[in-house]
Amino acid sequence: MRRPVAPGGRARSAHVARPRQRDTEKTTATGGRDRPGPAPSSMPSPPPDVRRPNRPGSFAAFAVALLGAIALCACKAPVLRDEVDTVVLLSIDSLRADHVGAHGYGWPTTPSIDALAARGTVFERAYSTTSWTLPAHVSMLTGLEAETHGVIDDGRSIPATILTIAERAKAAGVETAGVYSGPYLQPAYGFGRGFGTYANCSGIGADDAGLGLDWGERKGTHRKSHEAVTNPCIRARVGAWARSAPRTGKRFLFVHLWDVHYDYAPPPGYVEIFDPDYRGSADFSKLFVNESIRAGMPARDLRRLIALYDGEIRWTDDTIAGILADLDAAGLLRRSIVVVTADHGEEFLEHGGKAHRLSLHEEVLRVPMIVARPGGPEIGRRSEEVVSLVDVAPAICSWLVLDCADLGTAGPLAEAAVPGPARGGGDGRGRDDALAHLKARRLDDEAFRARVGHHAKVVERPGGGIEFYAAPDFPGSDLKPSESFDRAGLSRASAAAADSVGALDARVARAQEKGRLLRPVDLAPTAAIDDATRDRLESLGYLPRTESSP
Ligand SMILES: [Zn+2]
Repeated sequence: MRRPVAPGGRARSAHVARPRQRDTEKTTATGGRDRPGPAPSSMPSPPPDVRRPNRPGSFAAFAVALLGAIALCACKAPVLRDEVDTVVLLSIDSLRADHVGAHGYGWPTTPSIDALAARGTVFERAYSTTSWTLPAHVSMLTGLEAETHGVIDDGRSIPATILTIAERAKAAGVETAGVYSGPYLQPAYGFGRGFGTYANCSGIGADDAGLGLDWGERKGTHRKSHEAVTNPCIRARVGAWARSAPRTGKRFLFVHLWDVHYDYAPPPGYVEIFDPDYRGSADFSKLFVNESIRAGMPARDLRRLIALYDGEIRWTDDTIAGILADLDAAGLLRRSIVVVTADHGEEFLEHGGKAHRLSLHEEVLRVPMIVARPGGPEIGRRSEEVVSLVDVAPAICSWLVLDCADLGTAGPLAEAAVPGPARGGGDGRGRDDALAHLKARRLDDEAFRARVGHHAKVVERPGGGIEFYAAPDFPGSDLKPSESFDRAGLSRASAAAADSVGALDARVARAQEKGRLLRPVDLAPTAAIDDATRDRLESLGYLPRTESSP
């Protein structure tokens, strides 16, 4: 997004070191050791499926009553039952894990997030369920795989039979609030359900107005939203909520931050932190359809592009510092758990692609995952457990002592903020793998599918091409698969590769079967995407509009 105004004087002196080689670095082994020291912290001083019948109606009332009647959470024991009254979920759109200091990045992109991480656990191997905004956020907020919730393309919204974490929280009397800033988080997709307030910072009008604009309003709104600066709005809306939120009971706050999403145009002063001496004149606007941003582009311009991305991350990290300060001033941070994650990462031509929603490579699939207690001790823990966005909702259930028996065991994410000996560190209590799905843009019935296990990753491309990545190539880089073959060649693949494909098939079958149970009537398009929204999504590259779109 373009930045018409300066941020108000938070420019930093230029950093010193050159960025490390992105393509091949391994972050899990060296995470954080050589990164600059974090900025001063803004933290306070330590002190079986449950399906919801059609709504509204008696079945819905029954389901809510059932939730209330179950006294104890069937998830992991709520070890923080008396210590936590607020959960804050920060989703930073398009933030790849290896550009976060706490995840090992060598540039000062995230001093505030790094300070948070010191009071919690960094999950080195956290994965999205896809590589674009809509299905990833559905997974994050429902605890369901993409092929279970079924919201895998434009025009679908969260089925009425599936509960979001906000709905579960609200049904239990938790104060709920959300702030969103991108078009795929609009209430029309179902994300507003369960939130007492669901504030719109997307730059396309009040709340759900983006789906109801006529042609006359469309062009101006389109331009406005494309160039929108959303972070100040987010800070203001969160601050207003913090000042007015009830001081008793429990609270759940969801914040979707959009400005890291392309185009990368941070406010003045930010790109200079990462690239003070660029003398080129390359045009980085309209990234997704900008044909000069492609494989083979000048290396110096590519470095500049990445510096602009890093500038957006730092600008967003500064916003998070402000959000945390506002929550702290309102007294809401001391007994809170804060989760920092992303819906997906971003490609910078590592495999020839740019942006996201094109592949399931590590650079788009691996996301930051930090679970912290700002008012707790500096436990500074790191975990190499494989975790997924689908683990977020069960963990929130555990912390707020909600019933989420249908979502299964909360796992290591839920225990991440608990002081004491390291938990969730490969002790076998975590998940075996993470599953991902991406519907191919031009092939209605085909998809990318991936399974990330503890020692290997397998990706099936549309058409049956299979790529297998094994240690030591994985984790850390998936530039070159250990083996490539197709379905017909499975019998000739190595035993490890064949086993991984079998495990992928089994996981996909289970996810789809659960989907059939949760939404017995096949999904019909449920979000009527009007022309204005379609135009906007096309401009962002989410929908193909011309032959020039990748
Ligand atoms: Zn996104």
